[in-house]
Amino acid sequence: MIAYSVSGGVGMLGLSAPPFNMITFALLDDLRAALGRADLDPQVRGIVITGRSDHFSAGADVGLFRDLASAEEAVRISRVFQEAFQAVEDSRKPVAAAVAGRVMGSALELAMACHFRVCAPGARFSMPEVTLGINPGAGGTQRLPRLVGAQEALRMLLTGEAVDAQQARALGLIDAISEGGDCLESARAVLRSAQGPRRTSQCTDKVGNAAANEAAFRQGRERLAGVRPEIIAPRKILEAVEAGLKESFKAGLRKEQEGFAECMSTLATRNKIHLFFAARETGRIPGLPAGAAADITKAAVIGMGSMGTGIAQALIAGGIRVVALDQDRAALERGADRIRGSVAKRVEEGRLAPDAAEGMLRLLSTTADWPDVADAQLVIEAVFEDAAVKRAVIGQVEAACGAAAIIASNTSTISLDVLAEGMRRPERLIGMHFFNPAHRMPLVEIIRRAATPANVVATAVRLAKTLGKTPVLVRNREGFLVNRLFIPYLKEAFWLLEEGADAPAIDSAMVEFGFPMGPLALIDMAGLDVLVLTDRVLAKAFPSHGPLSKIAARLVERGYLGQKSGSGVYRYDKGDRTPRPSAEAAQVIAEVRRSEGRAPRPVRKDEITRRLVLRMAGEAFHVMEEGIAERESDIDVAMVLGTGFPDFCGGVLNYARHLGLGNVRADLERLAAQCGPRFSPCRLLRETEGV
Ligand code: NAD
Repeated sequence: MIAYSVSGGVGMLGLSAPPFNMITFALLDDLRAALGRADLDPQVRGIVITGRSDHFSAGADVGLFRDLASAEEAVRISRVFQEAFQAVEDSRKPVAAAVAGRVMGSALELAMACHFRVCAPGARFSMPEVTLGINPGAGGTQRLPRLVGAQEALRMLLTGEAVDAQQARALGLIDAISEGGDCLESARAVLRSAQGPRRTSQCTDKVGNAAANEAAFRQGRERLAGVRPEIIAPRKILEAVEAGLKESFKAGLRKEQEGFAECMSTLATRNKIHLFFAARETGRIPGLPAGAAADITKAAVIGMGSMGTGIAQALIAGGIRVVALDQDRAALERGADRIRGSVAKRVEEGRLAPDAAEGMLRLLSTTADWPDVADAQLVIEAVFEDAAVKRAVIGQVEAACGAAAIIASNTSTISLDVLAEGMRRPERLIGMHFFNPAHRMPLVEIIRRAATPANVVATAVRLAKTLGKTPVLVRNREGFLVNRLFIPYLKEAFWLLEEGADAPAIDSAMVEFGFPMGPLALIDMAGLDVLVLTDRVLAKAFPSHGPLSKIAARLVERGYLGQKSGSGVYRYDKGDRTPRPSAEAAQVIAEVRRSEGRAPRPVRKDEITRRLVLRMAGEAFHVMEEGIAERESDIDVAMVLGTGFPDFCGGVLNYARHLGLGNVRADLERLAAQCGPRFSPCRLLRETEGV
């Protein structure tokens, strides 16, 4: 796993574990053996550890700790990594890392154990363990502060955010960037001028000021204030950094081992790891022949409203040329302005280099003329959610584009079979359902009809990945996957409101459960009119879901649409998105309760949570039974990425399985008796073994 060679007095240790140079125990063994060989080799005066010219290493194999049985085993894994990297640092001959690509987690920990680091210009560096719910276990909490200072190290460790090569150079994480040149040559040059090993554990210049360290710890503690109690990794990271700087490097390493084991023993971390693997699975689609996917280099977006604008931005950010078409020239202007503004903001924030931003914007053009989209290989329509409008637009796309062009609809609810009616080449139609805002939200539902050929599916999946998104493949049926589960959840919130629960009580129950925002505040943000329209399509397709509470329709009739009209379920002051009690909404709610003959009753928090969560879980089993989703874990990923379902619960079905399917069944039956057939467990759930 380590290719060993010597030239010009330098021992080259090339990581060679295709495809991603994942760090496993076997690789660590080989690395130690190769270091020993270089140490004994009289021709070798310096050592370079490197990977592929475009990619150093993907870091530790997360599979190593997926099935950990005990805390002792977790401590052992951490110790094996720490000791192997310590052996690198202890080398008597100077060691330089020559790295490229995304250098993350243990890959960066390995590089930091080297005495010097050089990188290719596009390299990015991060310690993303915290996003998995763990603290780094291979010395990262100790070496990073010694290289970049406690404050910057804690920022990277606690956010998981990446820095680019220039930032890494400025921070002191990297010694040199091989601008335009050969990374290995730069590493040799660094070794030539080195005065022997520079051991990271002994570097003190960035961490010598106790007052500055203390200020960094204070800031770190402030960052922890908003972290949920289920998630202990940030606290463990801070403890390890503090121990390392206040006591010793060794004490810090021990804290790291213990913290890693403690994190691994929590359900929240195991759930996050479940999602990590589940998200990788969604991209693996059974039955898709290799090589079926085409590369899209030129796309068109039809409809430059809120979604089309975000989709166009996601496409250009993925390096794809885009023509955006809208019938309304003002919408085109507004959309292009929004994209320019958003890109400029990223530059201001230091997240995007100015020349990269210019390059991106050059990929975008706008038009109101159909012939301009003629050479697009893939066209995404994001016009109004109206079947007749969409069909007409699809007809125009077919007339304007070549026969091979793929037509993707961003419809939220309408069955693709309805949109395919009257098409000349219905097999070219697919669903690509982006979420709002499309340039930021990480999920894309790829919707295939029975007649959609594998190469069209494969191309859409590849495009979503090119955009850095997670594709989840679903079969065609109204609402697809996420809206199929989430609209019933939002409807349930209105039922609870009608029965007597207060809006803030409903919202805070779900925030306490782990959602970033409650359902009613969310629907105020998206627009109550959107819920009413969406429900029209879904209620027809799924009569057992029951009606939407009249409260929603009544609010819309009176013009209380949510944030955009200044009032919805809540009231909003101008320029302020804080939900406040609304007298108008209270009046509408009281009217509906009266007209429906309902005496409002107190609704306890546990009923709110149970009904809202089980409404989604029950529907998720229907989706499995109907074969809409490929696998249960796809539903988990889609709900976490698409709706903010808490990741520390591992997604809605993972959560249901933890509750016990027997309990879920019994609860759903009770709720069906109390509230109606929308809660009835489906056949799959009734027949599934297990409790
Ligand atoms: P929008 O009203 O903001 O934008 C629609 C745009 O389409 C407008 O600019 C309009 O001028 C243009 N348009 C309409 N008819 C056209 C035609 N015949 N030719 C060319 N352009 C035309 O709508 P939106 O919120 O961006 O939604 C677009 C689609 O995305 C809908 O299908 C919607 O269901 C779906 N969607 C929306 C969201 C969301 O949160 N808004 C999320 C996911 C999917």
